[in-house]
Amino acid sequence: MAEKHKPAPMVDEVSDFEILEVAVRELAIEKGLFSADDHRRWTEYMHTLGPAPAAHLVAKAWLDPEFKKLAVEDGVKASLEVGIDWINSMPTNFGTPSDYCNLRVLEDTPKLKHVVVCTLCSCYPRPILGQSPEWYRTPNYRRRLVRWPRQVLAEFGLQVPEDVEIRVEDSNQKSRFVVLPVRPEGTEGWTEDQLAAIATRDCLIGVAVPKPGVTANVERPVHPAVNPVQDDH
Ligand code: FE
Repeated sequence: MAEKHKPAPMVDEVSDFEILEVAVRELAIEKGLFSADDHRRWTEYMHTLGPAPAAHLVAKAWLDPEFKKLAVEDGVKASLEVGIDWINSMPTNFGTPSDYCNLRVLEDTPKLKHVVVCTLCSCYPRPILGQSPEWYRTPNYRRRLVRWPRQVLAEFGLQVPEDVEIRVEDSNQKSRFVVLPVRPEGTEGWTEDQLAAIATRDCLIGVAVPKPGVTANVERPVHPAVNPVQDDH
């Protein structure tokens, strides 16, 4: 019995990036830049994050023109209404202003579609939208979206008509974005909670548009390359 059920190894591969993270973290703790307890509190905070605040920000903007105006003009201030304080909420209190990011809310119109990427790495509005999906961090998405946005969105199942402009916003350390999509037809009279349920993560990144009845993201597993680039060093 035991022979048939050998336990799987706990870790079968540690990436170079993970080794680098541990090395930099231990050095920073040793140098007194932050403590191990700061790191634990930060990690716990990161695991509490999810897309609900951004979904509610969009739902509120759909319901209230004054709030929409505030969201577009001052995303950081509007975030307070959904419980996200970009300036004071960070649990460590040691890194500001480096912890601080400026949130901008990108308003779609019937003739303009926004979509968000980080071409340099994987910047993402995590305090209001949680952890990024794996595909968002792939070189494939990052390098191709800026060149061929219409084609990449089509691969996500989003056919954008030719007469609609697509605007790609490139995130960076300080500027993070969420998309405010056009409120779909068939949602007249809906409550904030009903509207927030269709403002899914993918809609907030801009690779999908909200539809009544669609409250989940399409799973997009990331597969290893069939013909990986040979690494000779
Ligand atoms: Fe980045």
